[in-house]
Amino acid sequence: MILLATTNKGKIKEFKEMLGEEIEVVVPEKKIDVVESGKTYEENALIKAKAYFEVYKMPTVAEDSGLEVRGLGWKPGVFSNRFFGEGLSDREKCLRLLDMLKDRDDEERIARFVCCIAYFDGKTHRFFKGDVFGYIIKEMKGEGGFGYDPVFFHPDFGGTFAEIGEKKNLVSHRRRALEKLKAFLKGS
Ligand code: IMP
Repeated sequence: MILLATTNKGKIKEFKEMLGEEIEVVVPEKKIDVVESGKTYEENALIKAKAYFEVYKMPTVAEDSGLEVRGLGWKPGVFSNRFFGEGLSDREKCLRLLDMLKDRDDEERIARFVCCIAYFDGKTHRFFKGDVFGYIIKEMKGEGGFGYDPVFFHPDFGGTFAEIGEKKNLVSHRRRALEKLKAFLKGS
């Protein structure tokens, strides 16, 4: 059994769908406030995993993820959650991003999602990383997913991550990181 150290509903839903019955996951009843002071996905994921481990004392996985856009010098990256300011809704963040890119060409709209999962069991830690490329379209499309999904277009499926439903879980950055975590957990 592992603790999934997040209270983000979108992340919990995707982790549970992708892990299926294979690995039993519990989620915290309440959020532990953690200062994500790291400069990398790895640092932030481990800060979260250790903070939750201290409370729950069980093998813990936490993830840090972000969106990187070519025309923004591959930002916002690790700062994806706060880049446009504190307390904005997902919709507001998407609209700010679209506005920032409004005069940019297709090449500058190339983007990737990155997910870094940190595992911590009190003694050792491990990282598992995944990414997926796509590009930022010009208007929000689709109702599914969370975060920047309505503006992230995946060419193979011809739609945004918010439009393609469960197909997102076949190719996403989270799926790719999770496959590596699963292999590790099965072997340990
Ligand atoms: P974190 O909670 O610090 O990892 O923040 C990650 C940021 O990237 C949040 O703003 C999320 O909305 C965004 N993000 C991460 N993964 C995804 C995804 O799968 N779809 C859409 N947005 C994502």
